Amino acid sequence: MRGNIQVLTLKGIPIRVHFSFLLILPLLAWSFGQSFQLAARAADVPPERLSGHPLVWGLGVAVALFLSVLLHELAHSVYALRKGGEVSDIRLMMIGGVSNITRMPDGARHEALMALAGPVTSLLLGALALFVHHLLEGTRSFNLSFAVFYLGSLNIFLGFFNLLPAFPMDGGRILRAVLSGWLGRVRATRVAGWVGQGFALLFGLFGIITGNFILLFIAFFVFMGAAAESRQVLLQSKLADVPVRELMGPRTATVEVEASLRELTEVLYGERLRAVPVVEAGRVVGLVTVEALRQVPVEKLAGLAVRELSEPVPVLTPDSTAWQALQEMGQRQMLQLPVTEDGVLVGMLSQEDILRGLELRELKESRRQGQGPWNLGGRGHESPT
Ligand SMILES: [Zn+2]
Repeated sequence: MRGNIQVLTLKGIPIRVHFSFLLILPLLAWSFGQSFQLAARAADVPPERLSGHPLVWGLGVAVALFLSVLLHELAHSVYALRKGGEVSDIRLMMIGGVSNITRMPDGARHEALMALAGPVTSLLLGALALFVHHLLEGTRSFNLSFAVFYLGSLNIFLGFFNLLPAFPMDGGRILRAVLSGWLGRVRATRVAGWVGQGFALLFGLFGIITGNFILLFIAFFVFMGAAAESRQVLLQSKLADVPVRELMGPRTATVEVEASLRELTEVLYGERLRAVPVVEAGRVVGLVTVEALRQVPVEKLAGLAVRELSEPVPVLTPDSTAWQALQEMGQRQMLQLPVTEDGVLVGMLSQEDILRGLELRELKESRRQGQGPWNLGGRGHESPT
């Protein structure tokens, strides 16, 4: 991921800091520093009780706040790991932290508890800080006492703010998990997504009125995140039980791994293909694309073999699901993949094939649902928007 620097590893999870974090830190330090001055003035604190520069205190609170956010994210991630999920990293950025959970623990209950772990951690941290503030009552340093109070309040705010049902924020994930019980995962995600987008609009409006640009950023990410995740879950539900066999196109021409690029050019343009499977002893070992060929200067075409341009491909069989295929294509940024059986080419599958299959399936579903009066309260037509 671009713009992220790995700073440490906790419990096997890489902790990365996004460069936007470095932009916001001085800004927060300045803004918190202002609060220190305002509070001291409001409480009419005598100068001998004001130790240290307000900016330094502000910076201290800003750093402590980000450590609190890190603990919040660690709570999500550690819960996920303990319940069989997978976490690729935790990222700290301008608008807060993100745990990159690449595999959710199974079951709505674990998903809800995983989402709850973060806000609960924030609320506990907040309560702890407020308790320490209480113990510090009567201390000589007003700034120390105020710093602890400030940090406690920020954590309490963080805990409650994240509990708002604004999917994909924590509260929205809890809402989705609760709704999945009777709506199913797809419809629950859609409903939670709508609620999330509603909240995003409110955040945005409030951000504009108050001139709070952090809230505007949050509004933007919540809005986009809700739409993206709804789409993802919908697509997954539609493609998870469709075998590649149903969607793939017929097998195409192939090129031998030792063939020259001139031969490759003839096959690609002669057969009007965007990509050709590369074979060695009858088995598929890779794929060459028009894009890769275009990178080679004309005068070098004769001297190079197909082997040099061949990219390795994942094993896709007719029994793989369309969802697996789409994920492989996305991860490798490939528009099509060869389908093999025992290593032998049996067909080709492109992203277009998958989308066309999806459209046909939807058409069939909507026809079936519109057939007669016996189909009452059906699941309705779902379009991939
Ligand atoms: Zn969280």
